[in-house]
Amino acid sequence: MSFISQPVDLEGLRHALAFDDLAWHDRANCQGANADLFFPERGASTRAAKAICRECQVRGECLDFALRSGEKFGIWGGLSERERRRVRRERQVAAARRAS
Ligand code: SF4
Repeated sequence: MSFISQPVDLEGLRHALAFDDLAWHDRANCQGANADLFFPERGASTRAAKAICRECQVRGECLDFALRSGEKFGIWGGLSERERRRVRRERQVAAARRAS
């Protein structure tokens, strides 16, 4: 009996594994915190989540992961969706300047 009912997408799996080393998760300051804090309802405060992020030793890794994976929701690396969009735009502008 096989537990795999679909053909395994080895290339996709390789890509996913290479995409990010998620070992930094083990050092996340939000482990055990209420996940709702990091995915607040629209207009709700993000202060508590950001306070946890400020004390997090893997904040940079978390933010990079969110930016590279295009996370659209929640607080990652201490930044909201809007703040991450701004960082993404700034990085794109900086990259375009370097390229020209
Ligand atoms: S930066 Fe914030 S969301 Fe990211 S791992 Fe640290 S505590 Fe969790």
